[in-house]
Amino acid sequence: MIESDLLRHIYSRTADLSRFGQVVVGPGDDCAVLRAPSGDHLLLTVDQVVEGRHFEAIADPSKARVLDGIGRKAIARSISDIAAMGGTPTATLATACLPPGFPQTSADELFDRMHAWALHWGAPLIGGDIAMGPDLGNSAKPPLLLTTTVLGVPHAGRGPVLRSTAQVGDELWVTGRLGNSFASGRHLSFEPRVAEARWLCSRAGAEPTAMIDLSDGLGRDADRIARASQVRIEIDARLLPLHPDCTDRRRGVSDGEDYELLFTASPGSLAEGASINAVPLTRIGRIVAGPAGAVIRTDTGLLDASGLGWDHADPRP
Ligand SMILES: [Mg+2]
Repeated sequence: MIESDLLRHIYSRTADLSRFGQVVVGPGDDCAVLRAPSGDHLLLTVDQVVEGRHFEAIADPSKARVLDGIGRKAIARSISDIAAMGGTPTATLATACLPPGFPQTSADELFDRMHAWALHWGAPLIGGDIAMGPDLGNSAKPPLLLTTTVLGVPHAGRGPVLRSTAQVGDELWVTGRLGNSFASGRHLSFEPRVAEARWLCSRAGAEPTAMIDLSDGLGRDADRIARASQVRIEIDARLLPLHPDCTDRRRGVSDGEDYELLFTASPGSLAEGASINAVPLTRIGRIVAGPAGAVIRTDTGLLDASGLGWDHADPRP
């Protein structure tokens, strides 16, 4: 089963959540949105990292630098989902399933690093659980698994920024640069765009109309905004802001784990060449009427964007 099929299965089981008044937004966005009895909204997201899929198999668990990168990524992915809603992270919960024989000192170091990174983004680790995986004898060793839940609060003025509210006529923008995240190691060191999302949401009258963080590649994630909003997104391949070490435009569209923000905004609400804290903002497309989905305009014609991306349940590319 691939991730998109599994998510569809989950959504089909939770279609009647509207009768639960506390669930404002259920599955299908970067975070769920809950209404507390006080009326305030809360953001919740959960994600996992799996050894051998989201990070390389650990050759030496005594290496603090390796554990730091893994712990950082486990926290940062969920922090990025809070940013994708325009929110501020507030607290973190984490669980680990360790391979049999994983040293206690390494487990302590891993959780110390996760705690430090959670604090770094203002969302202290407030609970969790650790289990040891089964020893399967001669079979292959089970991988290290980390699961991270982050809670957050939406921007007080803008409220949660959903995927489903892009408007025909909007422009499509992206923060930072795209492509080559795995080979470069940026998938372990990316900076979740929390401050940038907050800045965007603070511009009264010019806030993002819809937003997502780029976990699975620009093509696939743009298609998610398009389908959730029932609009057509046209991306201009010539406008993509690629990292200097990514020379192939197709990889700028299809590589996963850039963790930049992709958002829609009213025309003219952002100036060409704008940046936030030296992070560039680039207009890469527009929202038009038409069949829901994202397409990419290239020198040779239009490409369907929906299959151009990385499915986290698929084997690594
Ligand atoms: Mg996301």
